Amino acid sequence: MSLFDLDRTKVAEHLAGEPKFRSSQIWRGIYQNLTLPQEQTNLPKALREDLSSKAEFQLGLTQREVLFADEKKTIKTLYELQDAKEIESVLMSYSDRATLCVSSQAGCAMGCVFCATGQAGFFRHLSTAEIVEQVFHGARTSRDVFNQRLSNLVFMGMGEPMANYENVIGAIQLIVFEFGISARHVTVSTVGITPGIRKLATQALPISLAVSLHAANDEKRTRLVPINARYPIGDLMESLEFFRENSNRRISFEWAMMADINDSNEDADELAELARRVGAHVNLIPLNPTPMWPYPGSQHQRVVDFKDRLVELGINATIRRNRGNQIAAACGQLITQRKEKGPSRIRISNA
Ligand code: SAH
Ligand code: SF4
Repeated sequence: MSLFDLDRTKVAEHLAGEPKFRSSQIWRGIYQNLTLPQEQTNLPKALREDLSSKAEFQLGLTQREVLFADEKKTIKTLYELQDAKEIESVLMSYSDRATLCVSSQAGCAMGCVFCATGQAGFFRHLSTAEIVEQVFHGARTSRDVFNQRLSNLVFMGMGEPMANYENVIGAIQLIVFEFGISARHVTVSTVGITPGIRKLATQALPISLAVSLHAANDEKRTRLVPINARYPIGDLMESLEFFRENSNRRISFEWAMMADINDSNEDADELAELARRVGAHVNLIPLNPTPMWPYPGSQHQRVVDFKDRLVELGINATIRRNRGNQIAAACGQLITQRKEKGPSRIRISNA
């Protein structure tokens, strides 16, 4: 249990004897002003002390490591959960927005071969509160370090959000209605769990969808993304067509560029056909090296040529800027590194 497990009623229950306005004052303090109850100086000191001593008002995440890169425009935080499992989130500042990448699970059961989180395996789902708390800390850091309001949220940290659907949607509802982040600026990234895509299609909130495709035929995709055997491309495309019909929201395909594996002209042609069918935008991601995947990413020129080919085929394609390379700001890599390097630390890299 933690502070972010409390709803308004539960906060009120802890305030017996206090004036009626206290609970909404505390609630606003947390979700609008991004302050913890013990920091809310408009509360009587005795009340602050009383609340901060209660187990229910403690935080659920402990910061274990904070890494800075890209001239402090990228900040990666490693958190320890109450049961000592570890997760991470990455905050990125751009000229027009601040984006937080959050985790939805400790580990992941999907086993994508090139992904550090997949290589480490699955530990457990995150609760709604654990997801919301990442956003609380991210929004505070964005305000204090970037002087920018946190505007965008992507579920591209550790874990498969569609495998933890209810907690993820519960968190998004709080994030939209309490933190005030627009649902259109919230993107759920999935490996392609089709029942989840269908459920998201009928969600009232206009949440954006990213699908980690990486290969556009079943034989190749199953080798890279094993869950494709259960939800093959035909199924996936049907669920995306359903998503398109039931919402006017944008779909994007994620494609990590792997040399001689998924970066040929034929790969681009196959991908273009799928993208055209559902009007998807294609995001090409430079591959981040991971411990158990020895193959290199595509050379930069190949990535550019691949993108140009997609564009010639009428597809809206972009190359994702590689943020936080020097702090390994890719899915799950910080934890792999920390195990090798020992105790908590704060590392700053301005390279
Ligand atoms: N499980 C979800 C969301 C978390 S992964 C999903 O798979 O979509 C976030 C993104 O990072 C996905 O697009 C994933 O394919 C990508 N990714 C994983 N390992 C990577 C690597 N080594 N290099 C580049 N991108 C990677
Ligand atoms: Fe899980 Fe996504 Fe990594 Fe695949 S890429 S193992 S689904 S976190």
